[in-house]
Amino acid sequence: PFEKSKGQHILRNPALVDSIVAKAGLKPTDTVLEIGPGTGNLTKRLLEAGVKAVVAVELDPRMVLELNRRFQGHPLSSRLKVIQGDVLKCDLPYFDICVANIPYQISSPLTFKLLSHRPIFRCAVIMFQREFAMRLVAQPGDSLYCRLSVNVQLLSRVSHLLKVGRNNFRPPPKVDSSVVRIEPRKPLPPVSFKEWDGLVRICFNRKNKTLGSIFKQKRVLELLEKNYKTMQSLQLTQDAEMGEEKMSADDVALLANMVEDLSMEAGDEKEDDGMEMDDADMEGEGAASFKEKIMGILQQGDFAEKRGSKLSQVDFLYLLSLFNKAGIHFS
Ligand code: SAM
Repeated sequence: PFEKSKGQHILRNPALVDSIVAKAGLKPTDTVLEIGPGTGNLTKRLLEAGVKAVVAVELDPRMVLELNRRFQGHPLSSRLKVIQGDVLKCDLPYFDICVANIPYQISSPLTFKLLSHRPIFRCAVIMFQREFAMRLVAQPGDSLYCRLSVNVQLLSRVSHLLKVGRNNFRPPPKVDSSVVRIEPRKPLPPVSFKEWDGLVRICFNRKNKTLGSIFKQKRVLELLEKNYKTMQSLQLTQDAEMGEEKMSADDVALLANMVEDLSMEAGDEKEDDGMEMDDADMEGEGAASFKEKIMGILQQGDFAEKRGSKLSQVDFLYLLSLFNKAGIHFS
């Protein structure tokens, strides 16, 4: 009766369920959001941990039925609210903490949906496919370090909690899993997320190339020059643009749409066909001087020979600030 398309793999190891709950660091005042409660093995332990409430969002009406049956007449059932629906489509309720064994196909959009939720929660303890988890926690220089790592780590601190083998589930999935803790940063870094993601996207498009060669590409220069001209024609002064460009909830919410499926965005390089037109000098004087402007910015921060795959959060923030100061924008 379990549906593969809904990622229905039930946790069957009670000791594992207990350690997930223990790692969550629940408080009696907590409202817990559970996503995909399934038959309720984790839900039961969450309720028994003595929290104020558990709100569980489950897509499959049969599972909702099963859950209601399981907790009917249970002394703790008054603290449980089950919402039937797609967690990606519904408005999330208030919660302090999220604990979940999710269907892996929604990993990326769900992560960004949680991070754009307001008020911001204390922490999320979530089971992910192992590789996705390793991407979340990857550091500069690690082979799995990618746009997902950089973006999630801008918004939160991520740590790996537990490795979970596939045999802890019924039916066992094809991949191993890991439990990860995500703690949103408070306050969020004072940066426009659109700008940030625009820069990171370019730097990771060919993540093992030097920034010097990436920013020489014709299409990159054309994009930046277009943005530059738009900005100038709007006659925005640098001060006004830069003003208080804090990250808003709407800004972060855009993320959910931006991540086509970052989990599938392999760390592997796109094949470079060598056909890339990267000689903007051919475009005449204007283009050449714009290219020099960009190269000058890279050199100013000593970035020309560096690679996206090795840059830290601080490096990206610094690089973005150098570009923005020169009136160069990524959104
Ligand atoms: N939490 C249970 C456990 O650990 O035994 C079941 C976990 S199972 C991996 C994922 C659950 O999420 C399934 O019950 C599935 O029906 C549900 N689900 C799948 N897609 C969903 C969605 N978009 N929104 C909410 N629940 C979803």
